[in-house]
Parts: sequence; C-alpha cells; structure tokens
Amino acid sequence: MYLKLDHPPVSLDAYRPFMEPELADELLSLAAGIRHLRVVHLNSTANGGGVAEILQSMVPLFNALGIPTQRIVINPAEPAFFQVTKKIHNLLQGAEGSLSDEELAVYHGNIEQVAQAMSSDKLSADVWFLHDPQLLPLAGLLRRRCITGAKAWLWICHIDLTHPNQSALDSLLPMHRDYDHLIFSLQQYVPRGLAANKPVYIAPPAIDPLAEKNNPMNEAAAWDIVAAMGIDRSRPLITQVSRFDLWKDPWGVIDAYRIARQSVPGLQLALLGLSQAADDPEAQEVLNTVVAHAADDPDIHLYYDLNSIPVGNDRAVNAFQMASSVLVQKSTREGFGLTVTEGMWKGKPMIGGNAGGIRIQIDDGANGYLVSSPQECARRIVTLLQDANLSVIIGAAGRASVRRRFLLPRLALDYLKVAQAHAA
Ligand code: UDP
Repeated sequence: MYLKLDHPPVSLDAYRPFMEPELADELLSLAAGIRHLRVVHLNSTANGGGVAEILQSMVPLFNALGIPTQRIVINPAEPAFFQVTKKIHNLLQGAEGSLSDEELAVYHGNIEQVAQAMSSDKLSADVWFLHDPQLLPLAGLLRRRCITGAKAWLWICHIDLTHPNQSALDSLLPMHRDYDHLIFSLQQYVPRGLAANKPVYIAPPAIDPLAEKNNPMNEAAAWDIVAAMGIDRSRPLITQVSRFDLWKDPWGVIDAYRIARQSVPGLQLALLGLSQAADDPEAQEVLNTVVAHAADDPDIHLYYDLNSIPVGNDRAVNAFQMASSVLVQKSTREGFGLTVTEGMWKGKPMIGGNAGGIRIQIDDGANGYLVSSPQECARRIVTLLQDANLSVIIGAAGRASVRRRFLLPRLALDYLKVAQAHAA
C-alpha cells in the first residue's frame, strides 16, 4: 500500500556555494530549533515529474540539517486510482467534465486502504508533508485513526489552479479542513472558499544544484551524448524536456519548430519524455498523438524509452539542455515548471508558455521569453538562433535569477518555516 524510499545522504557543506550567507544562517538556526521533530514527506510516485524530483533531494537535505525525515510513496491497490487522480489533476488545471460517484469511490477507497496499512503499521511522525491532490484525503483518514504523535498535517499543492474546474474543486476542497497549513506555489493559486483563518504559505518549487541532471557538463561532452542519440552535430538543436502530457503542449512545440525551420533550415527538435511517472497513465495516449503529429520528420526526435538510453535519464536531460541552442517549455498550464528552472540554470535561453508558474520564473525579454502561440514561439526561436550574443545575455540573466530565487536551500527554508509554526 505504501513504500519507504531510501535516498543517499548529502553533505550540508556541498550546498554552501549555493546559499547566500544570510540564507545559510537562517536555515541552520531554524533547523537547530526543530531537530526534535520527525518529518515525513509523502507523494504518489517514486520517479517522474517535478514532485518526485524535489523530494528525492529535499529528504536528504532535511536529514543533513539534522531533522530525521522519511520519504514515503503511496502504492494503491487498484491501477484505476491513478486514472482517477490524473483526471483530478486535469480537472483542477481546468479540463472540462466532472467526477462520477464511482470515480470518487475509487479515489477515497484506495486512500482508505493506504491509511489502514499505515495505521496498522503504527507509522508515526510529528510533521506530515502530503504532496498534491492524490494524497488529499489521507490526513483526515489518518487523523480519525488517531495516528499518534502528529503535530502538523501540511498539504502542498503543486498544480496550476489558475482556471480550475469548479465542480472538481467543490468536491475536493472540503478536505483542506483536515490540514493545519496549506502550501501553494503561487498566491494566485489559492482557491477562494478556504476555511477562515486556515494558514496558507506560498513556496514556489526549486531545483537541486547538486543533482546529476544539474551538474556542470560542458557542451562538447553534451554533444557527444546527444550525437550518440541521433542528433546531427553540424545543425542547431532545440529541446523541450517534459512528460508527454496534455498541458505541456508538445504539438505546439512541433508547430513552432516547423515555422522556425522555414527561417533556420536544418533545425532539429528533441522532445524528451523519458521519465515514466507511475501516477501518469495518460502519457502513452498523448505520445501516440505526438508521434502522429511529428509525421515521420527525421529531424523531430522523440525520446520515451529509458531502456534505450545508455547514459540514463539524468545525464540525458543534462546533455540535451546543454547541447541545445534554445530550450522550450510551451506549457498552457504549469504549476511551476522545474524544467524551466533547470534550463535557465544551465545558462540557456528559455522560451516558456505564458502560464502559471512559468510567469514567475521568466521575466519576459529580460531572462527568457513568454509566448502564447506557436507563431510567437517560432519568432523567439528564430531571433535567438540568429543572435548568439542575445542568447548569451538572456541565458546569463536566467542563470542569475535561478541562483537568487529557485535553488533547493530556499525551498527547504520555506518548508521548515511552516513546520516550525507547528513545532510546539
Ligand atoms: N524529466 C526528466 N526526464 C524527462 C522528462 C522530464 O527527468 O524525460 C524531469 C524534468 O527534468 C523535471 C521533472 O521531470 O525535473 C518535471 O518537472 P516539471 O515541474 O517541469 O513538470 P511536472 O512533470 O511536474 O508537471
């Protein structure tokens, strides 16, 4: 029903170069005051997607700070659970439709079994970070089972709630009352109708500068990797790194590439969707339509089979981001978009969809570009490919903004501040 994951330890000192002294001082002193708390982070997939990416680094960092922290991934009995939770994800991001009684029964029934297993194993912790809507019913169920020792139940919602489907929100939102604190990535995601005085904290996600996919890699090494994966070294490359998902608009990226190619003959496009998330059963369906849309263009490279990538996912992501002249994340909804931060951290010019969390990362024209159509995206691609100097300036501004705002220690501090509010 659930799995405990082990992550290799990290050294706090390794993060020093990525923290301003004030941030380091605040983080260390806050952590020192709450070392008596046992923390658990729960989510719905071990790998694939932004939340798994954050937690595999956050849990070791909490432990390095002296706060005993566990990572737990739920493993519900019925595959239908993830069909329903993906539908919930889509509805909350604005898809049309509604949840049937049967779907709600699958959702609640599977989490009920998870809660049962956790309470019969006498799982206990002081602070429970429950990530995303998949986990939403769990706090209420565990509280009613009187799980011992809990001081705080925290729900972290990572998705884009700018245009939610109201009927889905109405069915799910009442469960927020079982939490002591709610965390959203952006202020504008906070839904209307929260209980009076329910504390809310805004904590945009962050990337781990020590993760293999963010390690420094020079362009020559990156080109060796992508060339071995079929990219022609002599022609420019643009890339989008993303799960194959409706809201990531892979079709729009292909359209933008086709327009841009008219001005930049020989342009190559890579769409990298290697990481399979257990909680995303729609990826294959989306991929099939993307394959059809690519229509056998030999310069559109789709990567979706991790088993065929000898260097592994993280090095492949790093290499494609480093070898590309321009990176794209053309989402139409995006809770945050770690891929945007990852690309900017590599000093590459990033073009992002004018949506959700991408808007707080990209200051249009200053450290990247925001676009709302394939035509606009194509125009920016062409400008950047034709102006190497501009690409360098935009890329450098992007990296500097990530260093200031979106690295893991800042997010750890945000999470620990919320935990501390309930430490007594
Ligand atoms: N990712 C990856 N391999 C892929 C595609 C995506 O490792 O082939 C990673 C990507 O590098 C990022 C995460 O998955 O760290 C996606 O997070 P993001 O916030 O961009 O989107 P989400 O999938 O959570 O909607």
